[in-house]
Amino acid sequence: MAIPVVHVTLARESASSTVLKPITSQQLREVFPDSRAQDLGAPDLARVDWGVLDYFGWIHPAGSRGYVILPLQDELRGITLRRLMNASGKSRTHMCSWCHHVYRGRGTAMFSTQVAGSDGRRTIGNYICRELDCSLRIRNLSSDPPTYMPETIALKHKIWRLESAVTAFMHRANLLEDTL
Ligand SMILES: [Zn+2]
Repeated sequence: MAIPVVHVTLARESASSTVLKPITSQQLREVFPDSRAQDLGAPDLARVDWGVLDYFGWIHPAGSRGYVILPLQDELRGITLRRLMNASGKSRTHMCSWCHHVYRGRGTAMFSTQVAGSDGRRTIGNYICRELDCSLRIRNLSSDPPTYMPETIALKHKIWRLESAVTAFMHRANLLEDTL
């Protein structure tokens, strides 16, 4: 099976110092046209601190679904994820594959999505911060303990790496082919 070539990391590099512009409820419905607004379970958009976000992610109050919106080439892209909490009782370190935050115990969850166009036959998944709060993690804005394995790289590199990871995940889910 052919592996799609990912060009988008370069396209995002120049924009990596920008933060998310506030997203309106109208845009939210446009990004997820198949869902009714009340089914999305999004937080109150007026209370979101957009200035510290690289992507907008939230967990549906029911707990088993997550949503991520990422601006890409001036267009908002969304992905719906299933969340499976880490049920293992063992205490060991877990790293978020998007922001590289390392947790001593449970802090990540398995997020998966069906590959678009595969009729549900193919699913991809990643271990990601379980509240989809990577942007707060890389800025040390979370009230939880900081990462177990601190890095010395600059914040702008962490932002670029995070955006690249989310973009690559969307590519693997077959959601971005029209941007190439
Ligand atoms: Zn993360």
